[in-house]
Amino acid sequence: MEYNSVLSRAAIVVAVLGPALPLATAVAAEEVNLYSSRQPYLIKPLLDAFTAETDIKVNMVYMKKGMLERLKSEGINSPADLILTTDIGNLHNHDMAGLLQSIQSAILSSNIPAQYRHPAGNWFGLTARARVIYASKSRVKIGEVTTYEDLTHPKMKGRVCTRSGKHVYNVSLLASIVVAKGAQAARDWAKRLKANLARKPQGNDRAQVKAVFEGECDVAVGNTYYMGKMATNEKKPEQKEWAASVKIIFPNQKGRGAHVNVSGAAATKSAKNKANAIKLIEFLSNDAAQKIYAERNFEYPVKPGVAWHPLVASWGQFKADKAFLSKIADQRMLASKLLDQVSFNN
Ligand code: FE
Repeated sequence: MEYNSVLSRAAIVVAVLGPALPLATAVAAEEVNLYSSRQPYLIKPLLDAFTAETDIKVNMVYMKKGMLERLKSEGINSPADLILTTDIGNLHNHDMAGLLQSIQSAILSSNIPAQYRHPAGNWFGLTARARVIYASKSRVKIGEVTTYEDLTHPKMKGRVCTRSGKHVYNVSLLASIVVAKGAQAARDWAKRLKANLARKPQGNDRAQVKAVFEGECDVAVGNTYYMGKMATNEKKPEQKEWAASVKIIFPNQKGRGAHVNVSGAAATKSAKNKANAIKLIEFLSNDAAQKIYAERNFEYPVKPGVAWHPLVASWGQFKADKAFLSKIADQRMLASKLLDQVSFNN
């Protein structure tokens, strides 16, 4: 009797626990919800490695565009715990919209140089890219163009190509000039650059290198990683020719250095799994992840001492502008106005 009752109780326990177990596991399992404008091929292997190491499942929603609008409309009910996106422009815009929250982490403070993160921890740079000059190997002499300012010299009249001045990359570049030299000098630079353009701003960064290859212009402004993407493009091998026709010039090496921007991460204000969001950002800042993350897109790791992809290394060491990206971000709105004032795109 006694035995039977124990058995039946045990049976009941099993019966209750049995079907409930998978559910209970699902509820208890750690997870983190990521909105990413970075492409899955770039980060999926890293997210898998993170899950393998921590047992925290990453639910990634990839959105090429519209992340800011989506987070705004979802508000505090957004499932997102963190975001991954490119350029301080995008990180800053999310911050200004009140969508982010600050993170304090000794690991992040130690791994990421202060210049590449928000001072209060609202966002963190994870990979870096320099905005450089792509110069025709055959038509631009050594030493002819060495600075952003050289692009505005009369000798460059009709020889410069760029994408839209209002593109997030170019607004950040101009904002860096505001920080370095003030608003008046930045406006003047934009005005004079416009006067030197070979054609109306159009296309993306790669399209400018193509224009150099085709002889439409001699120099272009672009992010470094595009050199790697063009030079290794098996699907569009014509891009290898574009890449082979130009050399990368890191601007202002005797002065303030080249403008460096980042792709980065931030915790959302709505985060329900904040601790896991922090763990994921910390993971992406460690040596192994930094190497893989930077390498896959021909970018630079933000963490000092992490090896560069050999192709990236082949472009040479360079001096980066030391201005804090948060300071540059603060001047983006002004930079955007200056571009309108000089009707840069028209
Ligand atoms: Fe890009």
